[in-house]
Amino acid sequence: MSVEDVTKQAFAPRIQERLDALARISAEPGAITRLYLTPEQARAEALVAGWMREAGMAVRRDAVGNLIGRVEGRVPGGPALVIGSHLDTVRDAGRYDGPLGVIAGIACVAALLREGPPPVALEVVGFADEEGVRFSATLTGSRAFSGHLDPAALRTLDAAGTTLAAAMRAYGLDPGAVRTAARTPQTILGYVELHIEQGPMLERAGVPVGLVTAISGASRLELTLTGEAGHAGTVAMTERRDALAGAAECVLAIEARCAGQELQAEHLVGTVGRIQAWPGAVNTIPGRARFSLDLRAPDDGQRRAALADIEAACRRIAVRRRLAFGLALLHEAEAVPCDPALTALVGAAIAAEGFPVLALPSGAGHDGMAVAAIAPIAMVFVRCRGGISHNPAEFASLPDIEAGARVLLGAVRGFLAGRSG
Ligand SMILES: [Zn+2]
Repeated sequence: MSVEDVTKQAFAPRIQERLDALARISAEPGAITRLYLTPEQARAEALVAGWMREAGMAVRRDAVGNLIGRVEGRVPGGPALVIGSHLDTVRDAGRYDGPLGVIAGIACVAALLREGPPPVALEVVGFADEEGVRFSATLTGSRAFSGHLDPAALRTLDAAGTTLAAAMRAYGLDPGAVRTAARTPQTILGYVELHIEQGPMLERAGVPVGLVTAISGASRLELTLTGEAGHAGTVAMTERRDALAGAAECVLAIEARCAGQELQAEHLVGTVGRIQAWPGAVNTIPGRARFSLDLRAPDDGQRRAALADIEAACRRIAVRRRLAFGLALLHEAEAVPCDPALTALVGAAIAAEGFPVLALPSGAGHDGMAVAAIAPIAMVFVRCRGGISHNPAEFASLPDIEAGARVLLGAVRGFLAGRSG
């Protein structure tokens, strides 16, 4: 990119500067690691709060540690349009996942305030814990914000044996007050999140920004095959009840059922990420095998149909191989559709910037999933190089960041135009 191109960009250089500043706040030298309720969160919070104030927002921290900047609309204390994402990271993270949406939100509010007071309140929220790295619960910040945080989450432990409640107290938060972070639907007009795609579809299509249709639902299962362990040298191949060989056939059946679907409207994806075999000796036929399945789709019916097919296929494989088959559902989350009206504003903003409107689901979870319980949501995706995320190599270019910020601003402006009468 030429120097001239850079100077034409209104938002991106400043946003990048701030992404870099946040990236320097880390628990690990040479890496980016900012976990929930740590000194790094406090430092990030102070830095971002300063940017929010500079943009003209009043800043507060809620009872779970979400950072909230707000400008009032015509009716003080009235419901707000919320722009948000998260400020925490995974271990050894990239610098865009989360902070990009918060920093771009601040830039949009600052730009809008230069045009005059907004008709309705605007808020920018930096959620405190989306990734759920330190404690096992994810989306802690946005779940508390939407009033859907399971109280049992307060008892979850980090690796050092500290409960979430104790960590909150050490951070200066009152775990007994978590409910006060909950917002009602009456206080939120809508929620817009800008986030890097964390996948390759925008790059493959050659477009800088995308419109998210839904956050995919997910099923997480554990499947078990049980046969008979035996001597690797003496049991004939035809006599074997090899659980691992059966599991291997199941893994390929799962891949075949999901293959090709991600390019269709359903975007079904299935992953076996873990497999174990017992007794696990080089000279013993595996008598038992257990493997995981992570199945996601933006349409719940599509996901359930695939799950039923996969279960039937695995059962057939087990019967043919004389194996016992077991299946346990560990976790299930329904898909969260984005709001058609709010999403249409994003689409109009993308078109107004002269980009093709590419609609795609999000296979990854986001804070918007939790916020959707109390407000209509929309999401804007920004192309990231190679689809790589949760990795120091995560990268979004300045022109793409500029495109994303402009689309976010356009969507918010479109929303406000509908409210200014
Ligand atoms: Zn994220």
